[in-house]
Amino acid sequence: MHELKFDPGMCGRCTTIDCIMKCQYLHYDLKTALSEHERLVDGEQSTILTDCVTCYACEEYCPYHNHPFYLIVDRQEELGVHPVPKPLEKSQVVMMGPRGKIRPKTLSPPVINMCFFTVMNACIRGRLFEGASLIGGSDIFCNLMFLHFARNSTIRQRLPQMIENIMKNYLEPSGVGELVCYHDECYGTYTSWAPAYGIEVPFRPVHLFDFIYRRLLELKADIKPLGVTVAYQRPCSNRLCPHTDHFVDDIFSLIGARRPKREFEYEHALCCGGVPEAQQRFELTEELQAKNVEDMKAAGAQYCVFNCPFCFWTLAERVFKAGLVPIMMSDLCLMALGE
Ligand code: SF4
Ligand code: SF4
Repeated sequence: MHELKFDPGMCGRCTTIDCIMKCQYLHYDLKTALSEHERLVDGEQSTILTDCVTCYACEEYCPYHNHPFYLIVDRQEELGVHPVPKPLEKSQVVMMGPRGKIRPKTLSPPVINMCFFTVMNACIRGRLFEGASLIGGSDIFCNLMFLHFARNSTIRQRLPQMIENIMKNYLEPSGVGELVCYHDECYGTYTSWAPAYGIEVPFRPVHLFDFIYRRLLELKADIKPLGVTVAYQRPCSNRLCPHTDHFVDDIFSLIGARRPKREFEYEHALCCGGVPEAQQRFELTEELQAKNVEDMKAAGAQYCVFNCPFCFWTLAERVFKAGLVPIMMSDLCLMALGE
């Protein structure tokens, strides 16, 4: 079975414990962070395992890329810590499982992997996505959401089959080597989680925002600057690929959107609240959503742009009630193209 590439010696030499000290949900002093993290590394029970809200951010905070969050998930599973109630965990494992209904198909590039979000297929439209082929569904689902459920074993078990399904059924018959990931959780799977567990990815994953940025450059002459102020809801999955975060600013500069100065963005972005809600931490959910949306409003945002559909479904109504327009990034870009 694929094991996590984690160096305990690196943590032993680490004096700042950024993974825990920068965490926005665990409020430990350095002494507590050191001792609780040591227990975590040694495979003992630690309050980190029960207090963690699975926001993924420590994967970004560790300056040595030593995979602190993947270690937390491994330890939660080993020690029987269930962040989400067990009935919900079990039903998700069954519901999101592969159906074995995939069949080979020849596609023309760009090939966009919608993952489990085929309900969003209608968003892939207009000149931005001209000629694109869409794939998606349970037989090619990255399964990375199970990081929130202390189920690294489910990802380890399913992902190699999903990668093979993508290759054998879609990319190889089409002679295509690139896969555009609609959800950056897929991109994080292929560029962060899979290498961390020694799983080979035989295609080139492309982040949706990278794809959109390059398409906008091609269509630059047709862009009418929007002149609006837009807050960005950064999703947990983007913590696994922080090198892609600059595309938000790059796209904004092309479409003439202003990004207001906020307290909760970039490294300090707040969770949309969807996962704490699934964990039945309702007070925390309320606190996070209120802080986040108030911050957008106070910064003068007119729109809130989303990367992740799950964040959109969780936060859109609250954003709307606060007087902002919730919108997916692709639709914001289509507006700038007059569509
Ligand atoms: S995971 Fe990274 S930040 Fe955390 S203790 Fe280890 S080396 Fe330090
Ligand atoms: S995943 Fe988030 S909540 Fe959990 S320890 Fe890491 S930074 Fe903190």
